[in-house]
Amino acid sequence: MTTPLRLALIAHDQKKDDLVAFARAHAGMLAGCDLVATGTTGGRIAEACPELSIRRLRSGPLGGDQQIGALIAEGRIDGVIFFVDPLTPMPHDVDVKALMRLAIVYDIPMALNRATAEMLLAHHETAAAAP
Ligand code: PGA
Repeated sequence: MTTPLRLALIAHDQKKDDLVAFARAHAGMLAGCDLVATGTTGGRIAEACPELSIRRLRSGPLGGDQQIGALIAEGRIDGVIFFVDPLTPMPHDVDVKALMRLAIVYDIPMALNRATAEMLLAHHETAAAAP
């Protein structure tokens, strides 16, 4: 049995619907992951995918992103899926940059859009299936 992938999930503004759709599409695989999410994002995903067990942190603006940053620094996150909304002004810009910086420092895969998130999961599945 492989170790569960420890994934952090965050979405901003209009991108929350996209992350919910992504989670629904991959619920089977995500059910085998250790999931942590910022408050509102986690609530939305849990509502749409009640079969998933998600640890919900604070809402992003109240420190949830930084809680995820702390988990990265402690070596407790294997990947971050962060759907940033590019069509809104940049009120969360500092949060995005802070998590990107830590993902770079600790060499953690970080998907900022669905295409990359799909690749992250596909890569994990392939690696898990390898002998
Ligand atoms: P939320 O936080 O999931 O609680 O909305 C996300 C964010 O704003 O970083």
